[in-house]
Amino acid sequence: MDLQLFATLSMGLLGILFGSFSNVCVHRIPLGQSIVTPGSHCPQCKNDIAWYDNIPLISWVLLGRKCRHCNLAISWRYPLLELSMGGLWALITWFTPIAPQTSVYLLQAIVLVSLLWILTLIDLETFLLPNALTFPGIASGLLFAWHFDYLLDALIGVISGYGFFWLIAFLFYKATGKEGMGQGDFKLLAMLGAFMGWQALPFIVLVSSVVGAIIGSIILLLQRKGLRSEIPFGPYLAMASVVWFFFGTQILDWYQSLWMS
Ligand SMILES: [Zn+2]
Repeated sequence: MDLQLFATLSMGLLGILFGSFSNVCVHRIPLGQSIVTPGSHCPQCKNDIAWYDNIPLISWVLLGRKCRHCNLAISWRYPLLELSMGGLWALITWFTPIAPQTSVYLLQAIVLVSLLWILTLIDLETFLLPNALTFPGIASGLLFAWHFDYLLDALIGVISGYGFFWLIAFLFYKATGKEGMGQGDFKLLAMLGAFMGWQALPFIVLVSSVVGAIIGSIILLLQRKGLRSEIPFGPYLAMASVVWFFFGTQILDWYQSLWMS
């Protein structure tokens, strides 16, 4: 088997395992619970889940999608997150030429995308972007920036990312008396600045705002009045930043070519 395929399959499997851990994060971090103790247990009957009932994907199928003790249906979310995390890790690995020089980049891409996927799911469900994820995200982003020698750009990115959203929220509050954006969004933009440097921020803010406005209007039109109308902004930031992380150079080249020709 060739190396690229072998690496892709291995990382896909590791991603599935990590997806299993991500389920714990998505479930417990917004509640402020520990992600280590207690061990996995059924939310209904509180029985501990044995290791052989806790194998990603496989146990879910073997158990017939039910708790062994109380028959509570196990949500689709668990296998879906495991599968999607495995798929993301495999996809990133497939498109990264496997070589010693690319290993840190591969790690950086996987850390960023995994964090953003977990944050997206938490934000959609709870409207929170917990510090327990964004703070380590900022720290690891800076660490990668230091390794790749753009620490200064990343530090400016953290400060300007946080400051820019803080300012927008401040002005919005002054004008309307309402809170438009959560503190979590400030910290997420700071994290994105840490990972990609301040140069990424104009694109991320612009694209996430435009896409957010379009999708937000569609959702508002489809919803009847009186229903929940707030829409979390984190997922749009996550989507725009993934585009920039993987295609930023091409986008810049294309933009410059418009003016050069
Ligand atoms: Zn149970």
